[in-house]
Amino acid sequence: MQRERLGRLGRRGLLQGALVSGLASGLAGGLAGCATAPRRGAEAANLVPIDARVDRIADVSVCVRPFRPAGPRVEPESLGDTLVVHNYGHGGSGWSLSWGSSTRAVRLAMQGSPRDVAVIGCGVLGLTSAILAQRAGARVTIYAREQLPLTTSFRATGEWTPDSRIALAHVAAPDFADVWEDMARTAFATHRGYIGKPGTPVEMVDQYAVSDESSFGSRILNGPSIDFASYGRRIADLMPPWQPVSPDASPFEATSVSRGEIMMFNITEYTQTLMSQFHQAGGQIQRADFQSPAEIAALGKKVVINCTGYGARALWQDDTLVPVRGQIAHLIPQPNVHYGVVYQRVLAVPRRDGIVVQSFEGGEAQGYGIAAETIDRDESVRAVMILAELFAPGRWRGSGLQAFLTPTGRHSMRHA
Ligand SMILES: Cc1cc2nc3c(=O)[nH]c(=O)nc-3n(C[C@H](O)[C@H](O)[C@H](O)COP(=O)(O)OP(=O)(O)OC[C@H]3O[C@@H](n4cnc5c(N)ncnc54)[C@H](O)[C@@H]3O)c2cc1C
Repeated sequence: MQRERLGRLGRRGLLQGALVSGLASGLAGGLAGCATAPRRGAEAANLVPIDARVDRIADVSVCVRPFRPAGPRVEPESLGDTLVVHNYGHGGSGWSLSWGSSTRAVRLAMQGSPRDVAVIGCGVLGLTSAILAQRAGARVTIYAREQLPLTTSFRATGEWTPDSRIALAHVAAPDFADVWEDMARTAFATHRGYIGKPGTPVEMVDQYAVSDESSFGSRILNGPSIDFASYGRRIADLMPPWQPVSPDASPFEATSVSRGEIMMFNITEYTQTLMSQFHQAGGQIQRADFQSPAEIAALGKKVVINCTGYGARALWQDDTLVPVRGQIAHLIPQPNVHYGVVYQRVLAVPRRDGIVVQSFEGGEAQGYGIAAETIDRDESVRAVMILAELFAPGRWRGSGLQAFLTPTGRHSMRHA
């Protein structure tokens, strides 16, 4: 049962479970004799360490998750002669659920087999809706204030996190869990189709959850918790379960280490792939900044898919949209690092365009209700310094690169 529970942990579960309650530590003890774990642990000994240094922070970006307590809005609405299908409000799961949510939206939009479809918004929901509408036979024009590289979508971490801040458990309708599962399964299957494509838009990588009980102290349970819905166990069959790594074989000097696999989105490459697919199928993009639904009706289109993300709060007066601020830092890319780590409420994801580092120091309520997209560089600096503890000389037991103390006491890395 413990093993099953670990296998079902998503990113949220890991942060709450493995890092906060020490669940992984207990599991590692209980499953140390498991046949596969030591082998994977031995493989882990060949890992290259993440060069976690503040002076390697190449970029810090911040954005707002478009969170709706009831879950994303995917439904039709008549606006005079125009059928509007809404497809917004995906919280921290927009990339993950994109293809599934857009499949539902496009099904609604294509019921009358329109020849022309307008999509408002060019984030991940807009582009996936547009591509699916093209595949269904429509000519598609995207109208957007910003194209994908300037949107919230481009500033996401890039992990398969289909139930991250997707709804509040006590607000979501009773049938939402079924809808969510349908979206998650459709999206997962479609993302999988991008694995191995040129540019590696999507790939599977290992991720380690490392905990060090002696340093839990003040970092646990800081901040109020929020009743976010959690549906991960409904799709537990999609990914292999997490496994404990035996302390002897682990490259991390820590009380407990476990390993799972994650689906990772290389956002830069995935964006380019989606944009080219859309253009190659004859799609057009026009810049537009709509102030009201009436301006959308004035386009004269029979069918419009509304994928405006947090923008729907102002455009559609949807006051149920709650901003949830999030920030990531990019460390300079390390092409030979192919694994992610969660350690003391810090997540590192090995994207091809740079190691993405994200802090969850405020717990799950972090950023809730905050719409300001102001960069807090110190937050990222603290996160990188916590990661640096994990890879410091004396703690890191892997190979590939070795750490050496400089005369100033600061460590640097060079090839062994
Ligand atoms: C720090 C952070 C990390 C994240 N990590 C992940 C992750 O790892 N995995 C995951 O699945 N999700 C993640 N997310 C969530 C994900 O980024 C969002 O759910 C997703 O980007 C929402 O996409 P969207 O297309 O709905 O909105 P957006 O990307 O915001 O796109 C909205 C589009 O609508 C346009 N628009 C808005 N208003 C108007 C208007 N009035 N007129 C014209 N155009 C308009 C915008 O210009 C834009 O083109 C993360 C979010 C944050 C903040």
